[in-house]
Amino acid sequence: MHIHIFWDSLSPQGLQVPVERTISAIMGVPATVSENHVRIMGYVNERRQIDAQALLESILVYKHRHALHEPVLLVVRQDLFRNGNSFVFGLARETAGAAVVSTARLGNEYYGREGNDDDLIDRITKEGAHELGHLAGLGHCANTECIMFRPDTLDELDRKKKMFCPACREKLAAHLAQG
Ligand SMILES: [Zn+2]
Ligand SMILES: [Zn+2]
Repeated sequence: MHIHIFWDSLSPQGLQVPVERTISAIMGVPATVSENHVRIMGYVNERRQIDAQALLESILVYKHRHALHEPVLLVVRQDLFRNGNSFVFGLARETAGAAVVSTARLGNEYYGREGNDDDLIDRITKEGAHELGHLAGLGHCANTECIMFRPDTLDELDRKKKMFCPACREKLAAHLAQG
């Protein structure tokens, strides 16, 4: 398996290489970052947000068109929502092998704190690996330090470690072994 990370042109630049390396290390599979060519769909004017489901659809269309069967993680700057949630850090659809992460709420600046690239890289990799975990069939985990724990706040995201807990790691290994 190989993970494709599509980096949108509006996303914070200069972080691609560390994000690629760290996500690859967390997941235990190779990952490649490239420029995004998926159409950015689903912008809702009144909310100033993107409907994450529409974006996943767009990724699916792209994957079909390019006969791409491996998992895709799209990194965008725009804020995301999903029906019933005022916002989401990211979203994944296992059947499509498609996931998206937004950097909108991952930077310190959003919370009135001083910006820091290392913090931003940390959060993008944790959130990205979380969504990729869903693509590998993993559900949410109760272990607050595990990648598969579902954070509601930035602090909860920061509290997580850049690793799967032993139980989730085992499930991930079983999934990867299936090919
Ligand atoms: Zn999740
Ligand atoms: Zn876990």
